[in-house]
Amino acid sequence: MGSSVLVTGSSRGIGKAIALRLAREGYDVAVHCRGNREAAEIVARDIRAMGQRSWVLQFDVSDRAAAHSILTSHIESEGAFYGVVCSAGITRDNAFPAMTGEDWDSVIHTNLDGFYNVVQPLVMPMVSARQGGRVVALSSVAGLAGNRGQVNYSATKAGLIGATKALAIELGKRGITVNCVAPGIIETDMIEGTFADEAKKLIPLRRFGRAEEVAGMIAYLFRDEAGYVTRQVISVNGGML
Ligand code: NDP
Repeated sequence: MGSSVLVTGSSRGIGKAIALRLAREGYDVAVHCRGNREAAEIVARDIRAMGQRSWVLQFDVSDRAAAHSILTSHIESEGAFYGVVCSAGITRDNAFPAMTGEDWDSVIHTNLDGFYNVVQPLVMPMVSARQGGRVVALSSVAGLAGNRGQVNYSATKAGLIGATKALAIELGKRGITVNCVAPGIIETDMIEGTFADEAKKLIPLRRFGRAEEVAGMIAYLFRDEAGYVTRQVISVNGGML
């Protein structure tokens, strides 16, 4: 098993649950945030308390130059990552006629460009390390089915599915698997004030999901036994779709 994993957007929410879970599975984890450094430092401290190494990397995933320089210098000092989970993401919801250019651009730049900005600098070192690897992007039920008020967000989450499927083909012969995990409605800051309890009626399991339930699927994808799973979109959505 390779040893270190980057989880973007792991200061809180789903990314934090993934970082903690992968540490529990025996990985060293680079915790990442945009502005919430203090929260990220706490996650890193908790990971070190589990006996794993941890670092905090801070940059805006939409800032290509910052992502490149921070990731490249981390790899120079610590070696290639075995895996990366792209969890950093935002919503800027609005009915399409009212959606501003800024709503559109910020979501595309963060959620979709962010994938390129983070994964591209990691891939060659991963290939050169010749130990296989794992790339996972957080898509969404909105990327599979679309969602009212989320034309921008749905576009990015569908875009990630295309990107990961193509990358899975490119990296397959290197033993690097590339998949999307598509959550339904998960209780984090992101959905605060967005969904009424009524929405639970649309979910066969009649509840929202927990970040740990998404992290469990990602932990599976990182195991050796998942080595033959690639180019897939795996839903964790209570049966919504
Ligand atoms: P949260 O809003 O709880 O957390 C977002 C995380 O992303 C934070 O760590 C935040 O860092 C980081 N982040 C946001 N923007 C940037 C940026 N520009 N650069 C760097 N880091 C950034 O989100 P969730 O945990 O709920 O969502 C995680 C992923 O799962 C997202 O991709 C989301 O689209 C997806 N998802 C979530 C669902 C849900 O119901 N919650 C459903 C389906 C998919 P900081 O703390 O520093 O701000």
